[in-house]
Parts: sequence; C-alpha cells; structure tokens
Amino acid sequence: MENIYDFTLDKLADKMESLSQKRFRATQLFTWLYKKRVNNFDAMSDVAQGFRQVLKEIFAINLPEIQVKQIANDGTIKLLLKMNDGALVETVLMRYEYGNAICVSSQVGCNMGCAFCASGLLKKQRDLTVGEMVGQLLVMENVMESEKISHIVVMGTGEPFDNYQNVMDFISIANNPKAFEIGARHISVSTCGIVPKIIEYSKTGLQVNLAISLHASNDETRSRLMKINNAYSINELIDAVKYYEKVTKRRVTFEYIMLEGINDSLDNARELVKLIKGMNAYVNLIPYNVVGESPFKRSSNNRIHIFCDYLKENGINVTIRKEFGHDIDAACGQLRAKKEGVIK
Ligand code: SAH
Repeated sequence: MENIYDFTLDKLADKMESLSQKRFRATQLFTWLYKKRVNNFDAMSDVAQGFRQVLKEIFAINLPEIQVKQIANDGTIKLLLKMNDGALVETVLMRYEYGNAICVSSQVGCNMGCAFCASGLLKKQRDLTVGEMVGQLLVMENVMESEKISHIVVMGTGEPFDNYQNVMDFISIANNPKAFEIGARHISVSTCGIVPKIIEYSKTGLQVNLAISLHASNDETRSRLMKINNAYSINELIDAVKYYEKVTKRRVTFEYIMLEGINDSLDNARELVKLIKGMNAYVNLIPYNVVGESPFKRSSNNRIHIFCDYLKENGINVTIRKEFGHDIDAACGQLRAKKEGVIK
C-alpha cells in the first residue's frame, strides 16, 4: 500500500485521474488530511462510501510513532520518531521570536561523513520518504496542540540534496495552501555543498532559502572536516552559489561552525572575507555542540565575537546562532545516536 502522505497535490490528482475520478478529489482529500487532520477514510464524509472503500485498498494513512519526547525549559521540543520499519529519526521544534521553527530530518543516518557531526556516526540506512518528512510536521503539531509551525529548516539528520526529489515534494506539500501553507520564504534547506544539485535547485525558481554548510575558509581545512570537499572544492562551491544568486536573486546563508584552533583564527576570518566579499550572502556563526567523544572543542565566546566583528568591519552580514534546549539532548543526531548506543 502507498502512504497517502507521500503524494503532492499534483501527484494525488494524477492518481485520482487514473482511478477515473475528477482531479478535484485530490484537493478534497488534502483538506481532510491537512486542514481537518483526519486520519481515517471513513471520516471523509463528502467522499462517496464506495470510493472510500477503494481509497482504503490503495492507501495507508501512515504516521511515525513517538518513541521519546523531550521538552526543554525554553520550550524546545525534541522528538525521536519511529518509522514503519523501525528506523529512528529526530525532529526538533525551536521557539524564535518570529515563530515556531521545526528542524526536519531528510535521511536515516547520513553518508556525508563530516568529522564534527553526530548524525554521521551512523551511516545512511536509507532516504526518508516524502510522507515521513510530512509526518514529522504532523506529529510535531499534534504535540504542540493548538499551536502551529510557522517555519521549516531542513537541517536535521541527513543531506537533503542526497534525497533531492523527496525533499522537493515535501516542500511542495509544506508550502501548498491546501496543506500546511508555510510560505517558501519561511522554509530553508541546508546542504553540505553538492554542487550539481545546487545548480539544479537554482533552476527550479523556488523562493525557498538556501543555506550552505561552509565551515572552513580554505580547502585544506575544509577537506579535513568535510569529505564532500574532496568531490567539490571551495572554489567550485562558491561558483555554484554565485550561479544560484545570479539566477534567483536570493541571498544565501553560509553556516560556519566555530571550532577551537581549527577554523577560528583572524587569518581564517580574512580568508573568509576574501572568499565571499561582494556576494549577497550572510554568515551564520555556529557555536559547536560538543557530542560524545568529539576531538573538537567549541571556540570561546570571546573568539567567536572577535571573528564576528572582523567580518562585520569588512562589510559581511553576520550573526551568531542562538542555541536552544540546553537541558535536553539538543545537539544534532545526539538523541538517536544515544538510543542506538553509539554515544553515551
Ligand atoms: N547535511 C546538511 C543538513 C544537516 S546538518 C548540511 O550539511 O547542511 C545541519 C547543520 O548543522 C550543518 O551546518 C551542520 O554542519 C551543522 N552541525 C552538525 N553537527 C553539529 C554540531 N555538533 N554542532 C553544531 N552544528 C552542527
């Protein structure tokens, strides 16, 4: 059986046509699923009983199950979800002044092998389906009761551009006025820098924000931290981002984790300015979340501020990432890695 949450509105309409129904049926189903949040076909009272029977034979209405729920003092919610096949996936809700942002996972584990990241401790088992990403939103909103998610960042476990089509379909459902109705500009996708996919993504015309995990100002350091840099060098990556800017006229975010003694010197700041000067970009400095027995240390606040000031003085838009959920397992991939016994 197919999970009905896997279908974008267009794909569901195609499916309805193939069942000799009007395309409009798909909108009706979307309203039941996403506006009224019904999860059984029998409750869909404006669908003829005979056709409800047909739907039941074709589709499952599958949601992930909550395995662990942690709520921090600052209101951060972290869920460990169990998928149909038992795969465990994390999803987090963060409270910003401007709204409620969910951090969605795109894969079970990750193959990108970034040296500092807990998600990569467990190799990729598989991609998440569209319905499993949609499920993260639905289950989180159940936990939030009457509150709504206003922003999405695809920054959880996994590399979204290594699961490209499913992530694009997920975004289409999140954005659809008949479903979650979350504006494209309230959605961000973060990639470690898969250059051909950045080019492909540029051409979609989507208004969704793009974030690039840069984390280093030269190839030597970046290759040490991120395997992907062996496939695409920093210059290739920056060229792809410039292409994205040119085609979309949108501003990108460069994420930069501050690691003590690795990438946080003033020389690094100078290199970084050289690299991105003149681009319509903005830099987000991330205080490192130490996980397990990581060989890396978080840069001191002082160091982060000196680095930040240097960028500012040189005309770069820069912010320091706010941290959430200090009293729970907030670091990326930490909860799942613990559950699977990879870290303590
Ligand atoms: N694969 C995608 C999205 C998932 S990672 C990407 O690489 O962008 C989301 C962000 O969290 C990335 O910038 C990643 O480098 C960062 N990150 C991973 N582990 C971290 C840690 N322990 N502390 C702080 N940021 C981390």
